[in-house]
Amino acid sequence: MAFDLVIKGGTVVDGTGAPPIRKDIGIIGDRIKALDVIPDSSTDSTKTIDASGLHISPGFIDVHSHADAALLNDGQHSNGIRQGVTTEVICPDGLSLAPLSKKNYEMYRWYLSGILGLAPEQLDMSSIEMSKKHYHRKTSCNVATFAGHGPIRLESAGMNDVPLIDEELETAKILLRESLEQGAVGFSTGLSYYPNSWSNTDELCELMSITKEFDRPMSIHLRNHNMERAYGGGGIPEAIEIARRTDTKLHFEHYRTTTDSAGQIDKLMEPIDEAKSSGVDITLETYPYPVGSSFPQAFFPGYFHEGGPEAMIKILTDTEDRKILIDKMSEIDYSDPRENVWTHIGDKGDQRFEGWLFEDVAEEWNVSVEEMMCRMMVETSLSCGMRVAPPGNVRLWRQVEEDVMNLMARTDYMVGSDSIPVGGMPHPRAYGCFVRLVGRLRRRYNYPLEQVVQRMTQNPAERFGLTDRGVIKKDKFADLVVFDEKKVNDRSSFEDPNVHPEGVPYVIVNGEIAVENESVTGILAGYAIP
Ligand SMILES: [Zn+2]
Repeated sequence: MAFDLVIKGGTVVDGTGAPPIRKDIGIIGDRIKALDVIPDSSTDSTKTIDASGLHISPGFIDVHSHADAALLNDGQHSNGIRQGVTTEVICPDGLSLAPLSKKNYEMYRWYLSGILGLAPEQLDMSSIEMSKKHYHRKTSCNVATFAGHGPIRLESAGMNDVPLIDEELETAKILLRESLEQGAVGFSTGLSYYPNSWSNTDELCELMSITKEFDRPMSIHLRNHNMERAYGGGGIPEAIEIARRTDTKLHFEHYRTTTDSAGQIDKLMEPIDEAKSSGVDITLETYPYPVGSSFPQAFFPGYFHEGGPEAMIKILTDTEDRKILIDKMSEIDYSDPRENVWTHIGDKGDQRFEGWLFEDVAEEWNVSVEEMMCRMMVETSLSCGMRVAPPGNVRLWRQVEEDVMNLMARTDYMVGSDSIPVGGMPHPRAYGCFVRLVGRLRRRYNYPLEQVVQRMTQNPAERFGLTDRGVIKKDKFADLVVFDEKKVNDRSSFEDPNVHPEGVPYVIVNGEIAVENESVTGILAGYAIP
């Protein structure tokens, strides 16, 4: 057989959870065509990677990536591909840029710029089909997308606080059906983001009745806005109720212990296991860090978001309106803004403050933390993002990490980085999530390699219907990571996040070499999938 690429001498961790085994891999085109011992005589004139002493696994699949705009701005996407992430699932939390009309695209790209960065202007994102064209063979990794609650709601009812009923609900259902027909891998919503949080449980059930026709899951960021609209007061009870009423699959986003609940995974998983034992089909994801990242809008109640960015800036710049807004922040069950650090400050702002605690910027400006947030949003025209400062207490931090590794022991878990690859001080998960798990934490907690690999490959591929990916088998797509299991490690940290990992010399996407000798090759061989 004449191969296009051969990987020789490595140990294969095939993604199924089976123990590692010595095998050569022969690739023709974008598929694996041989998995055996390939004699030297048949590889004389073939590009060959010497993987002696190295392990080879299926490419990692990130089920929660906010790289929607980053991939459009820079298809190389080195922070993901250098970790071995060969498929990014974009549009988690219901936050995305398609399907949107021209006008709504311009508005939502602005609204979301604090979390996604600024997507290119005037892009035709009128459908999932159209959106796929902007990614297909233009990015180093494959791209799959959810159908997001945000765009679907915007197209049906605009940036307005109305429940979707009657005609508007019908419009939303048609859009969702079209999006799923065009290959969206599920429905996603984030119920602390707008316009999503204006929904109620009934609306979500109506939408899930469409997703059910395609047997796709709902990926949910639990509600902490407008709780009175939700069954059971929002959160887990609402999510489970939706799955129960509509008999659909449920996927929990970023579900882990926090520094407040460190060590209590039994309690964390109790409602999940209870629902599962009564027949609800649930999967979950997490990233291995003790704190999260978002944008400042998440702190403000629903009325502030009505009408979109222009109306928001108006409120923020009016002294009286701003006072009222700050008063109402306490209505939201969100974390304390004081604990946050700016990760990303847009061109119009002062980037010197990237990495600074909110408190310190407020002191510098001689205003309250809340006033400082409002001023930063105005100065940057909403193009600013933040993350929580990690705990100073290493015992707590380590406990959360140990909890994450214990969660990874469950067969229903997978990995979602929640990566926000924007700005000078992003959350380190954008550069380190996968390698931290497969390297540092796997070794620290003596966790089986084949198991952690399965959670990052076969598990997500099966859950989200990524055809012929997630395992190393003959005739499957050649998405592969070659790594040194003793050396692989994250190097991005909270104080120096934009640093690539070590110990991942080769990454193959659809049979082409995306990373060689720990450097990106510039080849953009990713497909829009599934
Ligand atoms: Zn997210």
